[in-house]
Amino acid sequence: MNLKDLPKIELHCHLDGSIRPETIISIAKKDGIEIPTENIDEIREYVMAPISCKSLDEYLDRFTLPNKVMQTKENLKRVAYELLEDASKDNVKYIEIRFAPSLHTQKGLSFGEIIESVLEGMKEGEEKFPIKSNLILSCMRTMSVEEAFKVVEAGKEYLNKGVVAVDLAASEYEDFAHKYKEVIEKAREYGYRVTIHAGETGIGKNVLDAIKILKAERIGHGIYAKDSQEAYEILKNSHVTIEMCPTSNVQTKGVTSYESHPLKEFFKDGIKVILSTDNMTVSNTTLTNEHDLMSKAQNMSIEDYEKMYLNGVNASFASEEIKEELRKYI
Ligand SMILES: [Zn+2]
Repeated sequence: MNLKDLPKIELHCHLDGSIRPETIISIAKKDGIEIPTENIDEIREYVMAPISCKSLDEYLDRFTLPNKVMQTKENLKRVAYELLEDASKDNVKYIEIRFAPSLHTQKGLSFGEIIESVLEGMKEGEEKFPIKSNLILSCMRTMSVEEAFKVVEAGKEYLNKGVVAVDLAASEYEDFAHKYKEVIEKAREYGYRVTIHAGETGIGKNVLDAIKILKAERIGHGIYAKDSQEAYEILKNSHVTIEMCPTSNVQTKGVTSYESHPLKEFFKDGIKVILSTDNMTVSNTTLTNEHDLMSKAQNMSIEDYEKMYLNGVNASFASEEIKEELRKYI
């Protein structure tokens, strides 16, 4: 099967981790931003994580340089627009981009300005390319609860104008869910949908907490869900969907290989799973590549592909109208 030509749904893709390496150099030159090198191959080494990182933290270091050049309205808009272009070239029909507004305030932009700039880039991309999109606001677990409240408040006026959901991202520690319970509850009251990074690096109970305490409708990664029998049972019997990102998991040592990734096992157990890139640049991948790697490593068939595509449509935070359109592709 020609995976590239097949329609795709991307639900877990970080904006900063998907910036084109060329764009880093181009923005740095334009704005006089100091970067370690202007050599494209060397820049790639700075932003692309090796296949075997020491830890998730080493992987997360790759985001320093992208964020350095994503501090003005113009640049945020450009990076969002280019991501839609790149995804569209990979035949992605619908993408939910996520990003943390808190990482883009270094030059004094307000959260509102930051969110608006990204939405503008996405809107332009939608006009130019055959792709639809929505935005997820990530709150960083490295930041305070107060900061998360500010992000949720700032994004409120953009709900249903491009912003659809809230997410908790960055390094995972035990019991993080309790700390963010109130802010996620407030977000849900406002109308945000909820997806949470959990069970990425070894703590299965965090998946259970994300579902029970934070009422997550989707789980980012979730590869350790099996360590919590209760979480696993809920996943098997509900619509909670897991956004799986195999290359990223191999890189951060969440799994030891593509072959040992729990994708197919979860899938066969009836858990709703979908494939995502996590970060097109930092993980040096595309959605076609993730499908290709997993169909080879775990013998996934075209029927599996179609089922995952429909899982993606169902789990997306798109309007019913867009979902209907997306179902027609398959
Ligand atoms: Zn992620």
